[in-house]
Amino acid sequence: MDDIVKYPDKFLHRPTEEVWLPLNEDHKNLIKNMIKVMYENNGIGLAANQIGFSDKIFVMDVSNEKNKPQVFINPKIMKEAKEKLTYAEGCLSCPGKLVNVRRSIYVGLEWICEHGKKQYKTFYHLPARVVQHEMDHLNGKLCIDYA
Ligand code: ZN
Repeated sequence: MDDIVKYPDKFLHRPTEEVWLPLNEDHKNLIKNMIKVMYENNGIGLAANQIGFSDKIFVMDVSNEKNKPQVFINPKIMKEAKEKLTYAEGCLSCPGKLVNVRRSIYVGLEWICEHGKKQYKTFYHLPARVVQHEMDHLNGKLCIDYA
């Protein structure tokens, strides 16, 4: 099964919109579906616009067991490291392509969780890269745009 919007679909280049809170049933179903599609495709992150919704939401699971999905609603990068690292990135919307992307080694992110609470955390290493990749998606940017 493949519900993923693929490059060069222009929808991927359209920035997403802030979600009105509290979450309604449609949003809850969307989040459930995003987690399902991420796991089905062996992804570690997925943005709502990758399955055709223009809501500012992404999900991520960087655990080995693939049982710790995290939900990020209206995420905002509040700080980012000046120090950057280049690494080859893939994307479920650009199958078969790997692109070297320079990313900050850490980012401080503010977001609303699936329970409607405000969260803040600094992400390092792989999660920092996934967060920046998914933030790009929500802003209408793809990793292949860096090539
Ligand atoms: Zn991607």
